[in-house]
Amino acid sequence: MPEVVKEGAQGKALPSHAKVVIIGGGVVGCSILFHLAKFGWKDAVLLERDELTSGSSWHAAGQIHTISSDPNISRLQSYTIDLYKEIEELSGHSVGLHMTGGFYLASNKTWHDYLKRERSKARYMGLHQEWISPKELAERHPLIDPKHYYAALWDDQDGDLDPSGTTYAFAKAARTFGAQYFTHTPATKTEQRSDGTWDVTTPKGVINAEHVVNCGGLWAREVGHMGGLNLPVQPMEHHYLITEKIDEIANFGSRLPCGIDYEANIYFRQEREGMLLGTYEPVGVPWKVDGTPWTFGHELLPPNLEHIADRLELGFERIPALANAGIKDAINGPFTFGPDGNPIIGPVPGMTNYWCAVGVMAGFCQGGGVGLTMAEWMIDGEPSIDVWAMDVARFGNWASPDWGTVKSTENYERRFVMTFPNETLPKGRKQQTTALYDRLVAKGGCMGQSFGLEHVLWFADGPDDAHEDPTFERNRSFDYVAAECAAVRSGVGGIEVANFAKHVIKGPGARAWLNKTMAGFIPKPGRMTLTPMLTEKGRLYGDLTVACLGEEHFMLFGSGAMQDAHSRFFAQTLPDDVSHANETESWHGIAVSGPKSRELLSRITREDVSADGMAFRDCRETYVGGVPVVLNRISFSGELGYEIYCRPQYLIRLSEAIEEAGSDLGYRWYGNRALMSLRLEKGWGAWGLEFRPDFNAVEAGMDVFINWKKDFVGKAATEAARDEGVARKLVTLVIDTEIDVTLDEAVMLGGEAVGYITSGGYAHHVGKSMAMAYVASAHAEAGSMLDVEILGEMKCAVVMGAPVYDANGANMRA
Ligand SMILES: Cc1cc2nc3c(=O)[nH]c(=O)nc-3n(C[C@H](O)[C@H](O)[C@H](O)COP(=O)(O)OP(=O)(O)OC[C@H]3O[C@@H](n4cnc5c(N)ncnc54)[C@H](O)[C@@H]3O)c2cc1C
Repeated sequence: MPEVVKEGAQGKALPSHAKVVIIGGGVVGCSILFHLAKFGWKDAVLLERDELTSGSSWHAAGQIHTISSDPNISRLQSYTIDLYKEIEELSGHSVGLHMTGGFYLASNKTWHDYLKRERSKARYMGLHQEWISPKELAERHPLIDPKHYYAALWDDQDGDLDPSGTTYAFAKAARTFGAQYFTHTPATKTEQRSDGTWDVTTPKGVINAEHVVNCGGLWAREVGHMGGLNLPVQPMEHHYLITEKIDEIANFGSRLPCGIDYEANIYFRQEREGMLLGTYEPVGVPWKVDGTPWTFGHELLPPNLEHIADRLELGFERIPALANAGIKDAINGPFTFGPDGNPIIGPVPGMTNYWCAVGVMAGFCQGGGVGLTMAEWMIDGEPSIDVWAMDVARFGNWASPDWGTVKSTENYERRFVMTFPNETLPKGRKQQTTALYDRLVAKGGCMGQSFGLEHVLWFADGPDDAHEDPTFERNRSFDYVAAECAAVRSGVGGIEVANFAKHVIKGPGARAWLNKTMAGFIPKPGRMTLTPMLTEKGRLYGDLTVACLGEEHFMLFGSGAMQDAHSRFFAQTLPDDVSHANETESWHGIAVSGPKSRELLSRITREDVSADGMAFRDCRETYVGGVPVVLNRISFSGELGYEIYCRPQYLIRLSEAIEEAGSDLGYRWYGNRALMSLRLEKGWGAWGLEFRPDFNAVEAGMDVFINWKKDFVGKAATEAARDEGVARKLVTLVIDTEIDVTLDEAVMLGGEAVGYITSGGYAHHVGKSMAMAYVASAHAEAGSMLDVEILGEMKCAVVMGAPVYDANGANMRA
């Protein structure tokens, strides 16, 4: 329980009711308060147990920049930085902003390649970045020894600020819109009433609020526990140093730019007439694993310079003046990380009116964007851009606090460490496995992890051969994946489908509810359809396969990663006569695909699976391999294929039956990389890549699945998009290149960015490098010639019309 403390600074009485109570007055809570009040929720109250900034916020290094692995987070970082002038003016409180500009330094080819990719992303995001030469680098920052660097990428929007001033400016600007904050007012309990509202208890009284927001920062876990929530976040120790005065800085004449040197793993900026230098050490130190004490106040931790000595040495080599400067201060402060380093925000699935904005590890780069997003989500019902990379729903119950500590520590250590597109991170593995895990690993399966579940990416020649070779170029799985694709296209292959979500919808009102919730056609018993699911504003929120197993019994198959997000979405509108159960963990299975898949299946089932007996998009509950299954005739590979779902305890029997029956048909297991290659040559988008809430159904080409004759969520917005036309469209490209795209490369025409890549790779069967991209509608016609920027080079690309493989789907429907 938080300690009971003295009267609040404002001296006002606590209100008994509020629209929303925000718990925590760090930069994140204050930004949310500001945005809510600005957008009209003036009845917003923030509670702070001590003074504002009393968690991590007061001792941050205050460096700000736009670079992030996720483009939408970058956009929100840019928004955050642009906001500082506004809150300073509104509040009259200085944020101490220095927009010095800054650079990202590459000291080897790999980091240069990384920066080329960042530069490419920045083009279509409209962010201003430019290369500067070693000479310009030395001119802009004479303390840096340029001989260590291959390249430097300059960004105007980098700089630094005063963290305390910024937090206060947010809070005071919020007050100008009518919001209130109370310091020395700890929330000691959060209890939900039967009407869904929350009672937030403090030593000064109880506030009944419609919504509660956990912005507890260092105490996010403890505040979560009050509401019955276990968050996978972990405070980490972190050091930075401040030097004494350095004459070269004092005499420079203007403020030095800030910078990040990835290989040396240091960030730095000017602090008064000296420098500030921080580092993410290779062995991170989780702080207070068992919980943050309520007695921890405006405090720092004892510095341990030995722990960061190696990194400092590199820093001194690259900025030699630092080696001779005295150290004025060594700061060691804790701040909270999430498992993938991104904030964890939004409405918590399974709870009503409970929100969180926690694990924000770069609060001064991201706090404004988090506040904007939270306010949009709370007031409008959905954020204005896709914020999946920050959505609390990306971590299910499997993301335990222990797993959170392991992954958050890994993420801290890798803050400035390269993660290649084909790299899978080693920690926190085997959190969830299927019964086939050991067998598939024994066959050479190289595993990936999605929503905590292990699945095969590709098969090497046995376990000793099963390793990645991290690279931006074609990787060592290339030939193996080619062989897997060939097996599926010419014979029969099998892949696990445990990682697809399975939602069971039942009840007398099920069909009517599905008809309203899904934009597409709802099938008759025994049939399946593919349908987009849209938000009220017409954004894509799902691409789901709906199987009708009975008039009042439906099974929905979709993105495994989205299972909690979809459950949260369904819960908003589910009527009393419809039940929903997320049964993803209760249905594992195997998809068999390829021209010989029917032959294989017919050997292990008494069901009539002939072309007439089981047509494309038929489904039924039956027996395969002697075990009860749900059998769907459908495939994401574009071949004749069947998805066979069984309860987890039957998976081994089913897999053995498939392997035995397929042995003389050339059956072979394949992994996700092959599947992604096969779907690419069909021109099919995938959830999280091509299909996401950034786009509407018309842009994504999903409008072909819409049943326009009925009423459905998002209809008005989608009709408007259809009638008025859209500015960009999803296309498939064939690219003339030896290095395939991965994600987020700019699509260019005449030196201008006209779109960007959502996914791509090598399409092994057709033997082409391919990609999918959203491009300006004017260039979306088949045959349009465009350029794609791959590792800094422009590669010719042509927009395809029909799929390059099996254009009319004859193989799949055979
Ligand atoms: C050494 C260091 C350097 C950093 N450098 C940078 C940087 O250069 N740039 C950058 O962007 N970020 C930096 N950060 C990270 C940044 O400080 C954090 O991202 C940010 O402060 C997180 O803000 P927050 O509001 O989420 O959490 P916090 O600042 O921890 O705030 C949480 C608040 O909630 C209050 N609270 C908790 N429980 C309750 C309760 N029950 N009732 C009422 N109030 C409660 C706490 O008292 C606290 O004030 C740095 C962090 C550290 C430690």
